[in-house]
Amino acid sequence: MHLQAFVIGGFVRDLLLHRDNKQDIDIVVLGSGIDFAHAVAAKLGGDVPVKFFKNFGTAMLNFHGWKIEFVGARKESYRRNSRKPIVENGTLEDDQNRRDFTINAMALDLTEQKYGQLVDPFNGIRDLKDKIIRTPLDADITFSDDPLRMMRAIRFATQLNFTIEQSCFEAIRRNAERISIVSKERVSDEFNLIIQSAMPSKGFKMLDETGILKLIFPEFCELKGAEIIDGKGHKDNFYHTLAVLDNVALVSDNLWLRWAAILHDIAKPLTKKFIQGTGWTFHAHEFKGAKMVPHIFRNLKLPLNEKMKYVEKLVLLHLRPIVLAGDVVTDSAVRRLLFEAGDDIDDLMLLCNADITSKNPDKVKRFMANFIIVRQKLQEIEEKDQLRNWQPPITGEVIMQTFGIPPSKSVGIIKDAITEAILEGAIPNDYEAAYRLMIAEGEKLGFIKRDT
Ligand code: ATP
Ligand code: MG
Repeated sequence: MHLQAFVIGGFVRDLLLHRDNKQDIDIVVLGSGIDFAHAVAAKLGGDVPVKFFKNFGTAMLNFHGWKIEFVGARKESYRRNSRKPIVENGTLEDDQNRRDFTINAMALDLTEQKYGQLVDPFNGIRDLKDKIIRTPLDADITFSDDPLRMMRAIRFATQLNFTIEQSCFEAIRRNAERISIVSKERVSDEFNLIIQSAMPSKGFKMLDETGILKLIFPEFCELKGAEIIDGKGHKDNFYHTLAVLDNVALVSDNLWLRWAAILHDIAKPLTKKFIQGTGWTFHAHEFKGAKMVPHIFRNLKLPLNEKMKYVEKLVLLHLRPIVLAGDVVTDSAVRRLLFEAGDDIDDLMLLCNADITSKNPDKVKRFMANFIIVRQKLQEIEEKDQLRNWQPPITGEVIMQTFGIPPSKSVGIIKDAITEAILEGAIPNDYEAAYRLMIAEGEKLGFIKRDT
């Protein structure tokens, strides 16, 4: 087609970093990206479908697991109240100028004579070596034009373990308020990428120092600070939570377990009290915290589905294994925990382990030792009683049929009594024993077994 084309952006960056993140390729064409994509698809053998978006002038095709995107080189200009630019055709240079960071603006020439040549007008390669995030043009304009780039700067710095160049960082601080023109969904997408990095605390600290954190997630900033009364202080829950989050990140990639870590102490500021003679307490912060989860998820446009339920549950139960470990570990307490946590017991134990962050090594040692006992007990009892996803052996149906009663509160009372007795270990976990107890409990309520 006698057109010039270049690979540009993330693919080039990751290639030079030897990062195995190369499933997406962005190609910029000096001409029509859509026409070019169709020509490429034809050359690749005809049965490669091209998806294209006329309004945006972009086209996409999938080839052997590669996602290849084509776009014409463009020049962008912005209005004050929108992050959507006015777009016109441009040169490669225009297209590189509109990129967010020097390390994301490098291009590789695809024309035959110059195949593979690096086009790097902002010395991105030096910034890659020095591990620096900086904007190609004036940082204040770049961030004000599209404030999502502030989140992206922090996201790349966290993911790649880079530093944001000083004046660029200050520009983010100056423009932090502009984040308000970005949709919450886009903010959360970047936030989740920060959370999924190897050491998420790094990103949280940058979000905090730039002033973005209190704009997008004020509840988290409330965790900050350690008060002292009568010479007694408490942990700074902001830094404690970040330590727990990093600990979880070391052992699991599960984004929602990471969210449980972020939120496990979220209600501490609300429940904090100093009691003479006792010291600081955060009574029922796990209950209040679990109740705050839906509100926070809604605000951040996170999914209001079973993922949220999972986070609520872990926040609610996060103290339970620790409480167990601090005490004599009874079978019934372990059984109860298994019943309540169900399949999420392993994640709960990961969270709890990560939560042990005391600076006092003796305290940590003692907890860890007891924690091992809790783990062993959990395993023993799970093998014996199989309480994960457990249902009591007697159903409501059986109770109603046995006594010839309709659905009612009484059915629930009898069922709960059976569940309690099994969890407490008062009766074994089998049908016979549960049946006998059902008869006894029914009689207490004045029901008699029907003849069948
Ligand atoms: P990754 O896909 O690994 O997250 P990436 O650099 O490929 O990283 P994308 O969001 O896929 O990021 O964007 C592709 C390229 O488009 C970037 O490398 C950058 O050059 C450019 N880009 C993306 N978003 C913006 C933006 N908001 N402002 C300016 N340029 C952007
Ligand atoms: Mg990409």
